Amino acid sequence: MDLPVDEWKSYILQKWSLLPKSIRDTICSAETSSDIFLHSSSLLQPEDEVFLKELSRGYLVGKDPDAPLFYREEGNKKFQEKDYVGATVLYTKACLKDISRAQMHGSPERLQLKMMLRKAECLVTLGRLQEASQIIRDLESNFTDRQTLAASQFQILQSTLCRLKSKVQEKETPTGTLPAALTTDFEDMNLREENERISCASSSITLCTDPSKGRSLIATRDILPGELLVKEDAFVSVLNPGEMPPLRASLESKWDTRVTNGDLYCHRCLKHTLAPVPCDGCSYAKYCSQECMQQAWGLYHRVECPLGGLLLTLGVFCHVALRATLLARREDVGKVTRTLCDEISNWDIRSPESKNLVRTLGHDLGGEREKNGETVEPPIPGCDSNGKYESNYNAVLHLLPHTQNHGPEHKFLCALSVAALCRQLEAATLQTRTTSLKSSQPEAVVVPATSQELFSWGVAMLRHMLQLQCNAQAITTLQQTGSKESIVTDSRQVRLATGIFPVVSLLNHSCSPNTSVSFVGTAASARASRRIGKGQEVLHCYGPHESRMGVAERQQKLKAQYFFDCSCSACQEGTRRAAGPRWEAFRCPRCGELMQGGDVLSCGSASCTESASRDHLVSRVQDLQQQVGKAQKLLRNGKRERAIQLLLGCQHDAESFLSAEHSLVGEIQDVLAQAYAELEDWQKSATHLQKSLRGVEARHGPSSVEMGHELFKLAQIFFNGFAVPEALNTIQKAEKVLLVHYGPWNDEIQQLQEMKSCLLDLPPAPEGPFV
Ligand SMILES: [Zn+2]
Ligand SMILES: [Zn+2]
Ligand SMILES: [Zn+2]
Ligand SMILES: [Zn+2]
Repeated sequence: MDLPVDEWKSYILQKWSLLPKSIRDTICSAETSSDIFLHSSSLLQPEDEVFLKELSRGYLVGKDPDAPLFYREEGNKKFQEKDYVGATVLYTKACLKDISRAQMHGSPERLQLKMMLRKAECLVTLGRLQEASQIIRDLESNFTDRQTLAASQFQILQSTLCRLKSKVQEKETPTGTLPAALTTDFEDMNLREENERISCASSSITLCTDPSKGRSLIATRDILPGELLVKEDAFVSVLNPGEMPPLRASLESKWDTRVTNGDLYCHRCLKHTLAPVPCDGCSYAKYCSQECMQQAWGLYHRVECPLGGLLLTLGVFCHVALRATLLARREDVGKVTRTLCDEISNWDIRSPESKNLVRTLGHDLGGEREKNGETVEPPIPGCDSNGKYESNYNAVLHLLPHTQNHGPEHKFLCALSVAALCRQLEAATLQTRTTSLKSSQPEAVVVPATSQELFSWGVAMLRHMLQLQCNAQAITTLQQTGSKESIVTDSRQVRLATGIFPVVSLLNHSCSPNTSVSFVGTAASARASRRIGKGQEVLHCYGPHESRMGVAERQQKLKAQYFFDCSCSACQEGTRRAAGPRWEAFRCPRCGELMQGGDVLSCGSASCTESASRDHLVSRVQDLQQQVGKAQKLLRNGKRERAIQLLLGCQHDAESFLSAEHSLVGEIQDVLAQAYAELEDWQKSATHLQKSLRGVEARHGPSSVEMGHELFKLAQIFFNGFAVPEALNTIQKAEKVLLVHYGPWNDEIQQLQEMKSCLLDLPPAPEGPFV
């Protein structure tokens, strides 16, 4: 998804292997993005472009007139499967397309009125109130001069309009304001005090640089858990398309009926929407509103729209690289062009990048910026001449591309992908120029005009592609999982988009971080997840977290993707300690002590002689995992009693040889809790979930985000069982944990608030809990 599709990848790899050795050596020894691009892009042949074009054609992104009927039928299927979200998305696709088409083709007047009413109805239901109001206004103003309608029809229309208007009004009234208790404690929806030197960051941190580590963020005072440290809107973000549709364009696969990210989230602002406004020119870009569509069009989509299939083929990183370059033009065209044309080549020459830069400029950052009235060069890469670091294109340009660390094949693949994109841009530029002669409208999106400029674009895009491996930020959201009708919801984090956040990128990695990063739309928030003492570094986890992976695996992952050897406290601690984590530990079947050792494990108790082979124990774990999988399947098919029976057996078995904090023990408890919740046996459900909670706490810590989600589930169970004091108590705990990680506008926190106010409004119950 990030990189180009496999067909193009293997095509380019083959091309690479067939190159003369001398050319490969030249590319291998190229140290800068511009040299790599210079030597590679000229190797892109017309037949390569033809191959790529054929490949892109497989990803259908044009408009198809038969689509509405198809979508309606598929919508019916989804409706029967009780997938209401899916059905809505498909119906909307069908309905709105139908209507605009009929309007364009001039259907009879009366039919048109009826259709406009239906469209308004659709829009109101889906919450697109502004557009609905516009249609209602249009209809009203059209009424007065229509003599063709019979009096009875006139009345029906009149009353329908009335009803629609009151619906719009009802929906427009804001509901749900933030409870006062929350606003006082966590008013930092925005930063309390913005940093003067780093935009989008709190004044509690400062930017430092160090020759061995590069840039880092350090606490300037004691920071408490939950404090907002960075709040930054993505400089650029691209919605991940989700799973790729199959290449063969058979009738069934011609339209993708799976509901993907692209159907549920706005392509510009990433807002969740069930009623997307589709782009007129392509079928892949959809927006939450007309405004978003227009903004995207002006900023970048005018250029991207005809390139849809190509961009899907070349992958998200290439798309982000193009969009970042398009957005750069908006900042300060003159300045950025200069940066691109002149500075990039200079800048790259100073590679291998920042190490030298930092070394030459490695003086105290707090020192004087002006010397004898002359401005000295900014000491920290990415800062402007006043020493301020901003979330802008200059900062993006200075993110490290690690040119010398990528393999030559990878660089070649990126360079040729970018070169192919440049050729398309060139063709599009010619076309735009001829069409814009006709229209007097100024072009919002600037495309390269000269071949020199086009080359700079290529270099910039290649640089971004190389940067993205280490600097791309996955924009995630919580999606609810579990059966669609279940009362207790579970959630998992899913990747929504890929973006670049220059300020968030300043956070270095730790496998045991002290911040938590979350997203609302395209905005990232980094909050302290634990106390950070003055002078300590502010750290964020790039993925390999100590509670999810062992030291060796983490080290290997970080080295492969980010090119560094992690020496965080968790890694140092982990290499010292020989024993594995408790959530993978076995216990002695005889005395219950933890087992220790490598291939052969022996009981940790001095008075016990029990031993076992690791292979044997691991295969028992795998057997159990299979059983749990079977139980989950039974559960999905509504066979709850049988699932519970199977799970209780698993539980018994697991507890006999696994540590109480073993992740499988927790998982079994979790599924049991879910099964009992579906039977509405809230008491048993709560008991099992509480056991699962113990494992989560041992593994992830009492104030981890994982713990927050488990507490949220437990609160729902107590709430459903009307166990008022337990529910209130758990709501409070869940709130406390989730607030630290997400701040007050999180969905789960809002739901907890609703539960709380509902419980407090209850009349005192005569019976006890769990009746
Ligand atoms: Zn939007
Ligand atoms: Zn489009
Ligand atoms: Zn580490
Ligand atoms: Zn023992």
